[in-house]
Amino acid sequence: MKEIKEKKEHISIGELVETCYSVAKSKGWWDKRRNDAELIALMHSELSEALEALREHKPKAELAEELADCCIRIFDYCGRKKIALEQAILKKIEKNKKRPYRHGNKKY
Ligand SMILES: [Mg+2]
Repeated sequence: MKEIKEKKEHISIGELVETCYSVAKSKGWWDKRRNDAELIALMHSELSEALEALREHKPKAELAEELADCCIRIFDYCGRKKIALEQAILKKIEKNKKRPYRHGNKKY
């Protein structure tokens, strides 16, 4: 398992995927077969926790932690499934750049 140094200026998403998966594996989260739909639901659950942090006017650090939990679950999942998340994000950013203003006047 590659250790992430606290003072490192740049870390790639690929490295985060690798690290999150390694940590989860070392903690036994992948010892048994896991249901993909449940794992996606758990990603959602972290966003719900983030929403609750907002609604309860909790400190920004608590909101950040819930958002981090969501990212960690996504990164872990992508590590397990060998999903090239970093490349997918970069590709999607380029796709979004070519979309019209507010993506064709969408409200949200
Ligand atoms: Mg959480």
